[in-house]
Amino acid sequence: MIYWLLSDHINEAHLEGFNPDTDCVFICECLEDLAPVKHHQKKLVLLLSALRHFRHTLEKKNYHVYYVALDDPKHSGHLETELKKIFNAIPNTPMIVSTPSSFHLKKKIELLEYPIQIRENPQFLATHDEFEQWSTGYKNLRMEYFYRKMRVKYDILMDQQKPIGGQWNYDAENRKPPKAGLALPSPCQIDPDQITMDVIDLVNKQFNDHFGHTDQFHYAVTREDALNVLDHFIHHALSYFGDYQDAMIQNQVWMFHSHISFYLNCGLLSPIECIQKAEEQFLKAHAPIAAVEGFIRQILGWREFIRGIYWLKMPEYETHNALNARQPLPEFYWTAQSPMNCMNDAIHSTIDYGYAHHIQRLMITGNYALLSGIDPTQINEWYWIVYLDAYHWVELPNVLGMAIFADNGLLGSKPYAASGAYINKMSNYCQDCQFNVKEKHGPSACPFNYLYWSFIHRHEAKFKTNPRMKFVYHQLHKIKDLPQILESAEQHLKTYHSRPTRKDS
Ligand SMILES: Cc1cc2nc3c(=O)[nH]c(=O)nc-3n(C[C@H](O)[C@H](O)[C@H](O)COP(=O)(O)OP(=O)(O)OC[C@H]3O[C@@H](n4cnc5c(N)ncnc54)[C@H](O)[C@@H]3O)c2cc1C
Ligand code: SF4
Repeated sequence: MIYWLLSDHINEAHLEGFNPDTDCVFICECLEDLAPVKHHQKKLVLLLSALRHFRHTLEKKNYHVYYVALDDPKHSGHLETELKKIFNAIPNTPMIVSTPSSFHLKKKIELLEYPIQIRENPQFLATHDEFEQWSTGYKNLRMEYFYRKMRVKYDILMDQQKPIGGQWNYDAENRKPPKAGLALPSPCQIDPDQITMDVIDLVNKQFNDHFGHTDQFHYAVTREDALNVLDHFIHHALSYFGDYQDAMIQNQVWMFHSHISFYLNCGLLSPIECIQKAEEQFLKAHAPIAAVEGFIRQILGWREFIRGIYWLKMPEYETHNALNARQPLPEFYWTAQSPMNCMNDAIHSTIDYGYAHHIQRLMITGNYALLSGIDPTQINEWYWIVYLDAYHWVELPNVLGMAIFADNGLLGSKPYAASGAYINKMSNYCQDCQFNVKEKHGPSACPFNYLYWSFIHRHEAKFKTNPRMKFVYHQLHKIKDLPQILESAEQHLKTYHSRPTRKDS
């Protein structure tokens, strides 16, 4: 048997059943798998270096590894050709691979005329069948109910059949605004070794037209270092995770988040070990239940739910555009040169680190895309390109469903639309912005304010009967200067959305 490991299958769990006497491992650094879009340069460094380190780990354990490096002069550059070569080199041998990160790559593999079996990906806690079965019982799919099922299945934070503490969800105690002088933990940074430095050289030479840059690369590329990052979070940030989960502070990239999505998604960490380490902190009374439950819900609930939706609804899912959004993506998404301080901060962090935390992605760049009506294809491609943790299965539902409501509420019961008041409450961005967050229209007004009311007005027919939006429509009808608000929104769109984007130019 040939065990094929894709670039996000960097975990020995994919080799279950391996027989050292007869089997071999196949790893091919190929752009069709590594970079279906022009990913952030740091993502390429992370994956290439992690794959190369993993090869050494496997070889030290006497696995026979057939490795095709991107810069090997014999590399054809085509996945199919490299597959042909290995099937010729090891004839009459079937191949096994875990489910890839995208529907399209899976389809491509299925269409190949080679004996390749695709099996469940061990980097997830729910199987496709399990999710599908669960989903048939509900008219509206809601993460909370799926999460409860997963808590029971894995016996996490449970007291027999009941949730520990009597509640499933402690969000009401979480999500505080940042307070002045809040002391933040420093992130766990790893120094690059020679393998990583060689890969940085390769990426600088071959992929310098990709988004971002390779400067200051301090991510983990081995399982050992990824575990160090996880432990650093567990001991220095987990206790405050819930409290400041939604807080944003200018120039503070990492806050109390875990920064493990890169490692979870490429296999260096497994979800259950992250969950159990967090649970242990609560059981030992080292971290409060609200923080621990909040963190566990992100991995056991949201991560699995998002993946379940992707495989359940693809391929038609990616064609949805329920709000008929047609605006082109403004150039400032690529450059961080907008007049809006909050947008610039989130995009700067994205350019420099390939990271922005959840609330920056949802309530800053995502909220702006929702309010201004950016075309789903363009905004999806942006998110897929720019983040180190971006893979099609996780990027698409988060953007299309959670951020821009293009799936018509499959993922959430109402759009995550917010005006400047929310951003002002949850961050210190507005203090240093050229706009006034209290003004609703005119040249000095916060664009999130007039774009918000323009969005609410534009979609009145769709949302006015939504019980969760009743109050908003009540407010809309009381606004006297609505014409001026709509005029400001129109002017803003004309100014920033009519310029050619990087892709058009
Ligand atoms: C518009 C948008 C796009 C996103 N794109 C991606 C993406 O491409 N890849 C990605 O992994 N996450 C994505 N997310 C989810 C989330 O923002 C990131 O997982 C998180 O910011 C990663 O940082 P962290 O590891 O510090 O997470 P933490 O805040 O510390 O959370 C812990 C873990 O929970 C998981 N998690 C939390 N929320 C989600 C979620 N909504 N979906 C899936 N997993 C979740 C992640 O594995 C994360 O590492 C997106 C969210 C939004 C709103
Ligand atoms: S005033 Fe508006 S644009 Fe400026 S930082 Fe605040 S929310 Fe963002």
